[in-house]
Amino acid sequence: MPASSFLAARTTLLAATKLLRPDAFAAPGQMLLPSPALAETLGIWTLADAVAARSPADLRRWQMLHLDALFTHASAHSAFWRQRLAGWAGDLADLPVLRRADLRQQVTAEGALPSLPGHGQVATRSTSGSTGTALSLFATQWAGMFAQFLYEKHVLESGMDISAPLLSIFPRNTASVRPNWGGALGQLFATGPMISMSANTDLAEIIALIRQHPGAVLATGTPIVAALVDAWPTAAPDHATPLAWIMARGSNFDEVLRARARQVLGAQVLDRYSCEEIGPIALECPHHPFHYHVASANAVVEVLRLDGTLAAPGEVGRVVVSGLHSHATPFIRYELGDLAALHPTCACGFHGPTLTDIAGRTGEIIRLPDGKILWAQLRVRDLLAILPVHEFRLTRRQPTAFDLELVLPDGALTEAQHQALVALVREKTIQNADVTITISDTIDWGNTYKRREFVDLVATNPG
Ligand SMILES: [Zn+2]
Repeated sequence: MPASSFLAARTTLLAATKLLRPDAFAAPGQMLLPSPALAETLGIWTLADAVAARSPADLRRWQMLHLDALFTHASAHSAFWRQRLAGWAGDLADLPVLRRADLRQQVTAEGALPSLPGHGQVATRSTSGSTGTALSLFATQWAGMFAQFLYEKHVLESGMDISAPLLSIFPRNTASVRPNWGGALGQLFATGPMISMSANTDLAEIIALIRQHPGAVLATGTPIVAALVDAWPTAAPDHATPLAWIMARGSNFDEVLRARARQVLGAQVLDRYSCEEIGPIALECPHHPFHYHVASANAVVEVLRLDGTLAAPGEVGRVVVSGLHSHATPFIRYELGDLAALHPTCACGFHGPTLTDIAGRTGEIIRLPDGKILWAQLRVRDLLAILPVHEFRLTRRQPTAFDLELVLPDGALTEAQHQALVALVREKTIQNADVTITISDTIDWGNTYKRREFVDLVATNPG
């Protein structure tokens, strides 16, 4: 099995070789020496393949070697981690789970830990996280580059045609056209152009852009995909299905929306499970939707039961992640607030751990006043059935009180819509909940595109 994993990676590279730019090599026309950029990229890609191809025991050993180095670094530079790691006997499962409040304490008191030799400068990363409030976190240049290269490897291995135009539609984008997809892909391969547009543009302009570029790859958030599949049949009465792929960002890309994206837009979906703090956690299998290959060279993933013991293979539990390259802000057994099931392999032949049933991204786990747990889901399509909505966020402020923030195209809400929204929130959360609805021009998501559309302030501030 390890052999076929290597083979798959090589086949992918061979397939992409015809797109390699001549200047990816040390001298144009010389196909012997890779440029430093190509060597660096291939080095990380090969490392990722080699890690993924190991036996479970070997993989564990390799990851623990990395974690040991991280623990030594953290203990040397952080009183918080010195205290947490004191007396630890070497079994990862014995370390306490790191919660957001713990993280805030470490970051507030100590700031960034120093970088390692060869890992470059420490940069600040902000995240809105689950509380919707900004928390500054830190990462080395190496950690950022490693994450980026794994994402790009995932794109290459998906089989998507990178010579197609990439349409990038995110809220913070400004309108621009660049000659290539950027990053290592753009530096090494003759990719198509990258055309960027703000997600806050009129939907008709986004539709026009897509229709101008048949066969393009669309990178955008799920609210835009939902709006597109709704508007497409009227916008394109000839039923042209122009998109080859959608690279999804954010939550709520559920089965229904995927099926509609496939049917209406003709697009395959390539998703990834990541967080701002650590980068790639698991990357969606191109052959089996909703199966995510764990990025074992970047993160150790554990799935725990509510009592903190390890869940059985295939059993849904809490996702806890350790970042192997997180030296500036260590994330060791960091609880993301998501649920998922962990399997030893994927049906496609991928040899390494694989996540399914990732649930936190399509909803939120609510701990009810009586101690029970509810998986609450408020989906874009539920809201769209009531009214056109550009953005939304549902916040649980008190045990039985919810705020629904909406950004609407025309800013107005009828009494009937108001009542329907209150009923929807109660249906998805707690019957007889107090529901407050506010309409605003924008929602402050913080400096991140991983939007938490469901925020539980009660769970994050116990007591
Ligand atoms: Zn797979």
